[in-house]
Amino acid sequence: MKFTNKTIPNIIKPQVEEALSYYPELKDTPITFKFKKNINKSTMQAQPKFASLLKPRGSRSYVILISEKFHIEGEEFKVIDVDDDIMIGWIGHELGHVMDYRDRGKFDMIIFGLKYLFSSAHIKEVERAADTFAVEHGMYEYILATKNFILNNTSISSEYKARIKKLYMSPEEIMELVNNLEPDEVEEKVKEEIKEKKA
Ligand SMILES: [Zn+2]
Repeated sequence: MKFTNKTIPNIIKPQVEEALSYYPELKDTPITFKFKKNINKSTMQAQPKFASLLKPRGSRSYVILISEKFHIEGEEFKVIDVDDDIMIGWIGHELGHVMDYRDRGKFDMIIFGLKYLFSSAHIKEVERAADTFAVEHGMYEYILATKNFILNNTSISSEYKARIKKLYMSPEEIMELVNNLEPDEVEEKVKEEIKEKKA
């Protein structure tokens, strides 16, 4: 599939393109992937570009910020050192956020941003929506790889893990989601994927 309007650092280009291949809807959506020294409390963050918020939602552009290190008390990891499937899962989750934002009007987006700051129930809902988009787009194996990496990694602090457990879907919940997908739905998506790949 040929994508337009994407800015991707070379070092993560293959992983980002793999994740994007699951989201044909985002083919022309402007998205900039950008490394940042540090992001508060998370490793990656998807957001609409502020200046484009007032534009009609179809012409909005987005930024996905990627922390150079994720940096979890004591231990420091370079994000580019994680395995490919973990990186692809991470990006796939962020693209799930972009899918979610696309459906929202500008006032909705502003309220949404404020709620994210103050309500953990809201964060849970938003994170669940992002994972659900990724799973419905056929990315569940990648999403599971990312989750298991965080949850099974002994050098990641228990505080960070507790935050992940509290706010994000568990691997079991992901599997439940996969099992509840209509077989037709999945088949349809796989068919579309194959079609897209041939095109
Ligand atoms: Zn998220």
